[in-house]
Amino acid sequence: MVQFETAENAAENCPHCRSRVEARQYKFCPFCGGNLSAAVSKEASDCRYDDVETVEDIIRVYEQFVAEKKHQGLPDDVIQAAAAEWANKLKAKVQTKINLSEKKRVSPPPWETDIFSVVLKYCPHPEQLADRLQQYLLRSRTAIRMALLATPSLIIYQRKLDKIVPILREFLAEQATIALIPGRFIADQSFTQVYPAWSQLDGVTRRLIEAAPPLLWAGQTIYGVYRITHEAAGLAILVISDQGLYFLSGDTGVPDCHWRDIPYYLLEDVYSSNIAGILEVVHRHTGQEEIDFPLSEEAEAAYETIQRARKAGDARLQIRRRCSKCGAVGQENAFRAYERDQCEYCGFDLERKLLYR
Ligand SMILES: [Zn+2]
Ligand SMILES: [Zn+2]
Repeated sequence: MVQFETAENAAENCPHCRSRVEARQYKFCPFCGGNLSAAVSKEASDCRYDDVETVEDIIRVYEQFVAEKKHQGLPDDVIQAAAAEWANKLKAKVQTKINLSEKKRVSPPPWETDIFSVVLKYCPHPEQLADRLQQYLLRSRTAIRMALLATPSLIIYQRKLDKIVPILREFLAEQATIALIPGRFIADQSFTQVYPAWSQLDGVTRRLIEAAPPLLWAGQTIYGVYRITHEAAGLAILVISDQGLYFLSGDTGVPDCHWRDIPYYLLEDVYSSNIAGILEVVHRHTGQEEIDFPLSEEAEAAYETIQRARKAGDARLQIRRRCSKCGAVGQENAFRAYERDQCEYCGFDLERKLLYR
């Protein structure tokens, strides 16, 4: 019986005329004389399938396929059956390609800007950070120190991005929590604007969030708000953003809010404890601590939310660099961006853009 090539056994067919030949027995195809060496065979057969991108392509190669088989003198019904099977395989492949490209098209394109602002939320060593920032900011050391002590505060306002990365490094070296805000800076963006499920929060939780400084939420996307247990405070909540974890606490009646945060770049690990309702978080420098949830299922939900938010934050802010002299390009997450101002290949000054979703 005559056997026809399919996608699976294509490697055993002549890459030139598609006739079935035992490649190990012949160096050249006995039908068309084409070279059957493995490298050539692989390349040619890949090419034949990779060319097929659209339904029109299938019709084209289908007609080619039928013509070739007729030329070999095979009976029509045998050709029809084999061609149909082969075409179905190609259709499945094309459908996968179309689905993939449509998925790509649906996800929104990143915005880009070369203007950014930086809000500092917290810094454990403000004096050291002031020393580091002095060479970059056109302000006196006293002015910088005051800004660093009054957190959250706007440290850099709408500056060009091309010199940002070395400054970012200084913040990160001092374990500071910062928000990098692309484009035009809007100071009074309230939590209600960045958290769509605001109306579902209970009254006390809302009052506590409203008592926190609005600048805390600048440049954040909020993924979840959870009630947690705090040994000293009457009320405590965990806010999960795409940039980090925020702990707010206060008395249920008084509009006074204490807060602290752990940015994801300082969060070594998060895992569920053996005890129900407890999440363990491991800070890169200060070590492990527990977050205690009054409801154990909330701990699981918060864990999932942290994973999702962190992943989103990682992809959200990226810095793209380009050397206008040698054309070298690169792109990394903003907090892990290439540090130097000069091209790694030719030493020329780099252009930078902030890409954000
Ligand atoms: Zn051949
Ligand atoms: Zn270069």
